[in-house]
Amino acid sequence: MKVVLQNLTKRFPNRNKKLDDVIAVNNFNFEIPDGKLIGLLGPSGCGKSTTLNLICGLEMPTSGKIFFGEDDVTDLPPENRGVGLVFQNYALYPHMTVRQNIMFPLQNLKGKDKLSKAEMLTRAEEAAKLVQIDQLMDRKPAEMSGGQQQRVAIARALVKMPRVLLLDEPLSNLDARLRLQTREEIRRIQRNTGITTIFVTHDQEEAMSISDLIVVMKDGIIQQIDQPQKVYDDPKNLFVAKFLGTPPINVFKGKVAAGKLYLGEDAVLQVRGVSDQELWVGIRPEGFVPQQAGPLRCSLKAVEVMGRDTSVVLGNETAVSDPLRAIISSEYQVAPGTGEIRFALKPNKVFLFDLKTEERIPFQAE
Ligand code: ATP
Repeated sequence: MKVVLQNLTKRFPNRNKKLDDVIAVNNFNFEIPDGKLIGLLGPSGCGKSTTLNLICGLEMPTSGKIFFGEDDVTDLPPENRGVGLVFQNYALYPHMTVRQNIMFPLQNLKGKDKLSKAEMLTRAEEAAKLVQIDQLMDRKPAEMSGGQQQRVAIARALVKMPRVLLLDEPLSNLDARLRLQTREEIRRIQRNTGITTIFVTHDQEEAMSISDLIVVMKDGIIQQIDQPQKVYDDPKNLFVAKFLGTPPINVFKGKVAAGKLYLGEDAVLQVRGVSDQELWVGIRPEGFVPQQAGPLRCSLKAVEVMGRDTSVVLGNETAVSDPLRAIISSEYQVAPGTGEIRFALKPNKVFLFDLKTEERIPFQAE
């Protein structure tokens, strides 16, 4: 089921009447293709949950429309939209068994949708199998791990065979190892069921690892929508470049003069097609290549060997981000200690941004 958001806007009146409304979702236009998993990603307050609440019908938009396939669902109440919801706090009923928890949404079906007890049991069993908790049907939530409880919550969302599955920070309550496991699990379930799924998170790594497409948001405005790798490789602006990547991109204030990019006195890269100006320069940690006579001079502050790679902490007077961090292949020997270290830069890991608008400025490397 494809989901289309058309000029979707949600304003909240400000509690302080003298201040402007909060525009939590500002004129969203995008289409989620049928059967895909899309990640809504952005910092706290950027409008992720509001977007999800609009799609499921818990909030009504100020303007704009929402379509599921060809159906305009904008004015439908949540129970008639065919959505499954999973929240951060899985909110299972503690006094019910897993089986009863999963069956619960089916018990309220009315009219032609009403199911017999046997049908409900079968559907609950199928949903439990999908999330691999069918062995635990007689347990109560307190007798299960956090990850298992979250699976029950997902099974409960799947049992009504929703047209769209909405997940709001579903992994936040899990520890690091379980998060990893459960996110792979969500991906597997989504692939198996083919249900169009919208996943909200502020964790860029989580969003990138499981999404077919990510929507990066800031202050209620969509910054970029694309496949995770494309957004990483081709960020539209400085915000997107800074939001994706661990360790984060290193930002410098530099300038272009006569087709050369300067960081301080160092001419670090040929950049054709850019007029002379001061600008922000983003360099991904993997964009630094140690080279004895390399054009970029940095001070070496620390070396952290991580096995496959080496992480080096650097200093440079034109740097805006602190600390500067380069990830270099362990085939390069970097002696621990301090002093000067020089680098060449990989042109496809260097991005230029307008000093005022922070929009990306394209260039051709030599
Ligand atoms: P988080 O990651 O912290 O959950 P979010 O990206 O999900 O944040 P939203 O909860 O969608 O952000 O909030 C977007 C903006 O709308 C915020 O500025 C928030 O304060 C505001 N907002 C949300 N709900 C309301 C409301 N009911 N009344 C007034 N303002 C609201």
